[in-house]
Amino acid sequence: MSEHTGYVKGKGLLVVISGFSGAGKSRITKKLISDYGYAYSVSATTRNPREGEQNGVDYFFITKNEFEEMISNGKLLEYNCYVGNCYGTPKEYVLRQMEDGHDVILEIDVNGAAQVKKAYPEAVTVFVTAPDAFELKNRLTGRGTETAEVVKQRLQRAIEETESVKDYDFMIINDDLDLTVKHMDSLIRDQHMRTANQVSYVETFKKEMTDLINGI
Ligand code: 5GP
Repeated sequence: MSEHTGYVKGKGLLVVISGFSGAGKSRITKKLISDYGYAYSVSATTRNPREGEQNGVDYFFITKNEFEEMISNGKLLEYNCYVGNCYGTPKEYVLRQMEDGHDVILEIDVNGAAQVKKAYPEAVTVFVTAPDAFELKNRLTGRGTETAEVVKQRLQRAIEETESVKDYDFMIINDDLDLTVKHMDSLIRDQHMRTANQVSYVETFKKEMTDLINGI
């Protein structure tokens, strides 16, 4: 057991973060990686890079053919295509990180999250939202990067996504970035204390105690 964590340091957890556009999930994820050392799964996408985006950092930018190949070779943990572009989580990296004991964060949409939860019921799923509808709209318009039409589409999508919130294990209201990140870190740590994530301890304990008693 590692020091002072209160739990067995075994396999890493799969952590899924989704949320309304503008709720701040990307900033939360970035901070969890930079300040708390979580591993991040870089998604593959067929969409074009936006200004400043780097291949292998923000996304793996690949062609439609390459994406289809990944699907047919079973190399994606989950994927979803919408408005002409596809997004998916490369499986190998995620599984390797978890095997090495690192908690991995996937920042993906509600459809992808449902696929992950179905394949890996032990995954921890968190939905991020803004304090209220007004604040979400303000954040999206405040960015100034999207046209009014795009903002409207994203707000409309938020209404559709409300239907999926109940399927997540947790919902977190992002009113203060630093506090939200702190809560998120505690939440993930607490999941390690689930008995299901500490089965190895019980097995080892039983064996060791049996050996001890036999030696008395
Ligand atoms: P954007 O094009 O703005 O970077 O992302 C659009 C949407 O795709 C966001 O909702 C984002 O969470 C989602 N997304 C990014 N990567 C993945 C992925 O690997 N799988 C799925 N299902 N959705 C993703």
